[in-house]
Amino acid sequence: MVARAARAADLADLDGAVSDCFACPRLVAWREEVARVKRAAFRKQDYWGRPVPGLGPPDARIAILGLAPAAHGGNRTGRIFTGDRSGDVLFAALHRAGLASQPTSVAADDGLTLRDTRIFAAVRCAPPDNKPTPAERDTCAPWLHREVELIRPTLRVVVALGAFAWAAWWPLLRQVYGRRPPTPRPVFGHGAHWSGESVPALLGCYHVSQQNTFTGRLTPAMLDDVFTRAKDLAGVD
Ligand code: SF4
Repeated sequence: MVARAARAADLADLDGAVSDCFACPRLVAWREEVARVKRAAFRKQDYWGRPVPGLGPPDARIAILGLAPAAHGGNRTGRIFTGDRSGDVLFAALHRAGLASQPTSVAADDGLTLRDTRIFAAVRCAPPDNKPTPAERDTCAPWLHREVELIRPTLRVVVALGAFAWAAWWPLLRQVYGRRPPTPRPVFGHGAHWSGESVPALLGCYHVSQQNTFTGRLTPAMLDDVFTRAKDLAGVD
């Protein structure tokens, strides 16, 4: 699988290859089980039930790094953060920031496009309880690393949604940029900012999960601040 990721010549190639990955037995079983059983509200829909590729243009200057697709969101629609409450909050914020063409993302063919922004997850398959194991995170890492390598020429800022994504960034520094990660590792927090020489800046943002947005731990204004900062750092108008 590492070789397949490394061979991907461009993002389209990578998106196609990752969609056909079966490397994690537990996650393959789960994504297919969810796609078979379905949620009652979506019982007439065909679920994607496969790994979910990234979304956004190849010359993105901002990347948004999430945890993993949602069982009835990305795993259903085939597009990251699409068709679930987390995506509702995220895409509304991206639209306010001028980075998304519309404020909603409901289906892979709904016409949404992103500007200067690529969204992807540290783990590409929906995990039970939204909790991939460390071994699954490590198994999936080559897909993430290759994706960042492919957008490296323009990438300036990475917004890590949550501590899991924040932690997934450090191995990538060595793998993609040939840089030693800082020690000790900078601590994740909302608004945390790390920058190093000749590598993208890293911004921490609470995850757009319902646990955070329904409780007010993460508000639209807080998201707006993060994306304003990301645009400033990336030089996006
Ligand atoms: S989580 Fe990643 S490595 Fe594991 S099966 Fe899905 S795409 Fe493949």
